[in-house]
Amino acid sequence: MTNKLIVGSEEWCSLPGLGLPAIKARVDSGAATSSLHAFNIVPFQTDGELWISFEVHPLQNDRSVVVRHEAPVLEQRSVRNTSGISENRYVIREELVLGEQRWPIELTLTNRDAMGYRMLLGREAMVGRVLVDPEGSHQLGDVEPAQLVAMYAALRTERTGLRIALLASDPELYSNRRLLEAGEERGHRMEFLNVKQCYMRLDPQNPEMHYRGGNVLERIDAVIPRIRPSVTFYGCAITRQFESMGIRVLNAAEPIKRSRDKLLASQLFVCHGLSMPVTGFASSPLDTKDLIKMVGGAPLILKLLEGGQGRGVVLAETQKAAESVINAMKSLNANLLVQEFIKEAGGKDLRCFVIGNKVVSAIERTAAVGDFRSNIHQGGSAQAVRIRPEERKLAVAATRALGLDVAGVDIIRSERGPLLLEVNSSPGLEGIETATGKDLAGQMIQEVERKLGWVRSCSTPALVAA
Ligand code: ADP
Repeated sequence: MTNKLIVGSEEWCSLPGLGLPAIKARVDSGAATSSLHAFNIVPFQTDGELWISFEVHPLQNDRSVVVRHEAPVLEQRSVRNTSGISENRYVIREELVLGEQRWPIELTLTNRDAMGYRMLLGREAMVGRVLVDPEGSHQLGDVEPAQLVAMYAALRTERTGLRIALLASDPELYSNRRLLEAGEERGHRMEFLNVKQCYMRLDPQNPEMHYRGGNVLERIDAVIPRIRPSVTFYGCAITRQFESMGIRVLNAAEPIKRSRDKLLASQLFVCHGLSMPVTGFASSPLDTKDLIKMVGGAPLILKLLEGGQGRGVVLAETQKAAESVINAMKSLNANLLVQEFIKEAGGKDLRCFVIGNKVVSAIERTAAVGDFRSNIHQGGSAQAVRIRPEERKLAVAATRALGLDVAGVDIIRSERGPLLLEVNSSPGLEGIETATGKDLAGQMIQEVERKLGWVRSCSTPALVAA
């Protein structure tokens, strides 16, 4: 006879030290470490010791219960997540109560918003104490929804804010996590919508948006689209459907589409009289020599129209190299922009973060040694920078030319003044928030509030006419 606990594949447990009377854990003896869903994880030092503060949403699909906690850090550990990517996580020690027994376990903290359970119980925490019966679940007792409501009643915050949907692909991405947190922090109800899981009913009388499983999405006040380049077509269609349902969006579908087409965007910049490097584009390979001459000859920059994050950008140092790359690309039917090389920029550019009609933050990005592309994804580094009035003006005018509400505008400094490189309609938050310490996610949420004319009154926030 064993006196070990027999558990199923999912069990209710509690973590009294964290003030969590009930949390459902996925029992997974295939994972070594246990993990707990946590966000807003902030390290700090106290008496020379490393601590963290963090918040937990203990209930699945319910962000209205928030538990805040502080704990000393046991260690930092590299853990491979379900996508196989290594993450550096904080480890804390907490007492686990499972059935009638309690013992201390180690927990790594990570955002498990995308997972089916808020907690994962791994084998290190179970060794010597637990046997797993993979067929069973809730072997140690179930918790009824009404009991959960009663247990967490005191921790539930009343939502009086807006209902804001984040339309994106990966809730784990830094920018998406930050937007969800920033909205929650300001008292809004945030919902993550996976672009690919939305589908729509086109009907002039009653347009609808449905979500995986047949749920009709209703009472959404605003949508923030953060559409990956690979799903531009469908993501923009979904955004347009929300617009046709009268829902405010922070970046409408058409401006997003314009920003994704480098040639169209460049033509719009020219129409608005905005300075940019001299650029050429041709469909036929017959006039490659003149195309090169037209932009001032080699060295010159070649850009794939479908590129991004610096991936499709090449520096052709000689006339010969330029000709062969252009002709090779043409033979593959790839669309290529040919652009004058701004040598004096010295591998630096500016990323200006524009919200509404203002540059709210800016960084200067510097390319890695031996590269000319300053994209952070290409090994570039970033630091906060104070930009000049003409750069500020250019960034705002470019955002307006495309009709965007929020944009990351890339500008290069040349001998003849600032020149526009490109406008990104889903600018990443990580590099710029880290370099400047600014809460840009919070400012984006404020812009949603402003667009909706939402004001926070002392106790009862209300919608007023926009
Ligand atoms: P992507 O959309 O792939 O980021 P960009 O047009 O922004 O493409 O170019 C990537 C990087 O290459 C820029 O951040 C800049 O550092 C460098 N770069 C781009 N165009 C030029 C140019 N005309 N002259 C000099 N450097 C350039």
